[in-house]
Amino acid sequence: MLFIIILCFGCNKYKYTINYYDRENLINILKDNKYYLEKNIDKYLSYSILNNNIDNIVREVNVGLYRDYYININETDTSLDNIVLVNKYNCLKSDYIPDDLEEISNLYNLGQHNMLRKEAKNMFEIMANDALNDNIKLFNISAFRNYNYQEYIYNYNIMHKGFELTEKYVARAGCSEHQSGLSLDINSVNNSFKDTNEYKWLINNSYKYGFILRYPKEKERITGFSFEPWHFRYVGKEVALIIKDENITFDEYYAYYINN
Ligand SMILES: [Zn+2]
Repeated sequence: MLFIIILCFGCNKYKYTINYYDRENLINILKDNKYYLEKNIDKYLSYSILNNNIDNIVREVNVGLYRDYYININETDTSLDNIVLVNKYNCLKSDYIPDDLEEISNLYNLGQHNMLRKEAKNMFEIMANDALNDNIKLFNISAFRNYNYQEYIYNYNIMHKGFELTEKYVARAGCSEHQSGLSLDINSVNNSFKDTNEYKWLINNSYKYGFILRYPKEKERITGFSFEPWHFRYVGKEVALIIKDENITFDEYYAYYINN
C-alpha cells in the first residue's frame, strides 16, 4: 500500500504531495533546502517518516533533535571563543571557568553573579550606556554561574517547581550557557519583561553589540528552552547579524556554519 504524506513548505498556499517511496524526489527536495547538510542525509530520510515538513526535518536533524535531550552529550568546544555552543546536547566540564572573566560595572549591575568574559562584558557596558540615550536602563541580574551554583539552582527549582517546568527554564549543571561567561539575564526573569520598552529596545538593537535573544518564542523545540525574554547571549556582531537576518537560533547557526 502506498503511503502518501502531504507536505507544507512553511506556507499553507502551497501543498505538495510526496510519495515517500520516491526516495530520489525527497532527496532532491531536501538538497534544495538552504540548510541542507550532506553528512545528515541518512538522518533526514529516517526523520522524514516522523515529520512532514522539509524545513523542520532539516532544522531539527541539524540541531540533533532526532535524539532525546541530554543523551550522548558532547563536550563543548571551548576553543571557539565567542561561538561556543552550550545546550542540551553540548555541555561544559564541571571545572570549566573562562579565564578572562571580568566584573560588570556597578552602573549596569544589580546581580551578585556579575561576571562576563572580557569582550562580552565590554560590549554589554557599551550597549547599556548607549541605551541610556534612549531612556532605557539595562542591568545585569545574573551573568556567569559556575557548575556548582547552577547545580544548586537546578535542584532548588526541581524541589519547588517540579521536573517538567524546571526542564523548560533551567539547564542542568554543565549544560547552562551561564557557565560559558557569555550569557546574562537582563533586568527581570519574569515573563512580563517581554512587554517592557527595555525588551523592545534589546530586540531592535542588541545585535548591533553582538548579543542575541537566545531562547526566542516559537523556537522552544529547537533551543530546548521556553521563551526567555531576559536571557541574552554574546556571539559577536558578525554572527549576531547573520542570526537576526536569517531568523535562526544559535543552535541552527552553529550546526550549519560551524559544525558542518
Ligand atoms: Zn539566563
